[in-house]
Amino acid sequence: MSDLRETTVHIGFDDTDSLRGGCTTFLALRLVERISNDVEFLDYPRLIRNNPNIPWKTRGNGAIGLTLKVEEDKIESIVERAINILNEMSEENNNTNPGLVIAKGEIPQELKQFSYKALTEVISIETAKDFAEKFCFKHYTIGNGRGLIGSIAAIGNTLQPECEDFTYELLTYRLPQNIKKKREIDYESLIQADKKYSPQVFNNIDEESNNIIIAPAGPDPVLYGIRGEEPTILLEMMKKIKTKEQISAYCIFRTNQATDQHFEYASSDVVNFNVFKGEIKVTEKPKVIPGGHVISHGELLKNKSKVDIAAFEPSKGFRDIIKKLLPEDRIMAFGGVKYKKEFKGFTIQLEKCEILSIADHFKEESPFCPSCNNRMVSNGLNKGYKCRKCGYKNRESTKVRKPIDRKLSRGLYIPPAQAQRHLVKPHRRNNLPLKNSFVLIDNWWKT
Ligand code: ATP
Repeated sequence: MSDLRETTVHIGFDDTDSLRGGCTTFLALRLVERISNDVEFLDYPRLIRNNPNIPWKTRGNGAIGLTLKVEEDKIESIVERAINILNEMSEENNNTNPGLVIAKGEIPQELKQFSYKALTEVISIETAKDFAEKFCFKHYTIGNGRGLIGSIAAIGNTLQPECEDFTYELLTYRLPQNIKKKREIDYESLIQADKKYSPQVFNNIDEESNNIIIAPAGPDPVLYGIRGEEPTILLEMMKKIKTKEQISAYCIFRTNQATDQHFEYASSDVVNFNVFKGEIKVTEKPKVIPGGHVISHGELLKNKSKVDIAAFEPSKGFRDIIKKLLPEDRIMAFGGVKYKKEFKGFTIQLEKCEILSIADHFKEESPFCPSCNNRMVSNGLNKGYKCRKCGYKNRESTKVRKPIDRKLSRGLYIPPAQAQRHLVKPHRRNNLPLKNSFVLIDNWWKT
């Protein structure tokens, strides 16, 4: 006799792709397809972006969490299908270490804490394994087991409405025979759709370069992804975007992209690979180094320890703001920490920057002639100034101090959309109220 008691089951997985192919989101869609007749989906698949500074990530450090309602006696078979998919679809690669985790029931507070840590710090494989054991999570790994870290983080990061911010991304996928071909998206149709649905959709087109930024570049199965606030609008917009090739499948994900969630849990301690958020006093004029990157120097306000601050070339116009910083300016730096061996010091790689205060700086100029208003010239060391036009001389004249127009305003600065990391909240999402619910719409996935 079948046991009809239903249980909430969470499935997390990560690290299934490599730069040569694959995509964890596509694997998620295949799993959704394979289990859809036997489960009730309680959430969209959650696409959770973890610490963007992890050196071994493939691209955006994304992991997937599914939350389902399943009859007790079907759980085994669901788990089996998830393991099979992981085995079938994971890329075989030294740097691909897939992980799968299955948890039942309520998400414990400790699991949430694990997820927040995964957003900002480096977690060891051992810690993740111990965690899974402690909470009796079923888990399955290939390779060194690293995928377990993101998998656990994905089930614990529940993006709870009313408490946490979230957005949606609709990902469309390519037919296998097109995967090596160039992606061709009709620019005009995208511009029109973007105009029609903005600000409910965002980061489709880069505002500085006008580049299309919905399509990735690599050999993964994603054709394009559109990001926004409402699933129905994403579906509508998909229908308006014209592409040369057929869309083979699509799926809507609920995600922490564009929410700044990593900065919510960031610390102002400078630790290699961690996410950093803290006040810095600028101590030197920035310089531009080969490659067009802008480097400034500063010290942490809280303990005066020295750090470099970097705005990299791809951040384009954002660098112009960082270039204008001068000693004694104060900024709130948001970014990733990287230890640079060659400089024996830490660099904050900026994801965004708030200018908190702008110091007064002065330049010294020769005085104007009081009789003809021409600019005077020095009359020799300690001999004051003279006017070449009318001959006026004054031994007491000295240089005049004039405040420099800093051409810089206080406020929050973010790189243009094409240089933004997935988690960074774009300007247009600032001050949005938290969503108080989410509803699974019809047709949220299709294969
Ligand atoms: P894509 O975005 O294309 O899916 P990716 O950039 O997510 O790829 P992965 O291949 O998933 O990269 O590799 C990221 C690896 O880092 C995973 O094994 C994941 O478990 C691990 N990881 C994620 N967050 C952390 C963390 N905070 N500390 C340590 N390891 C982490």
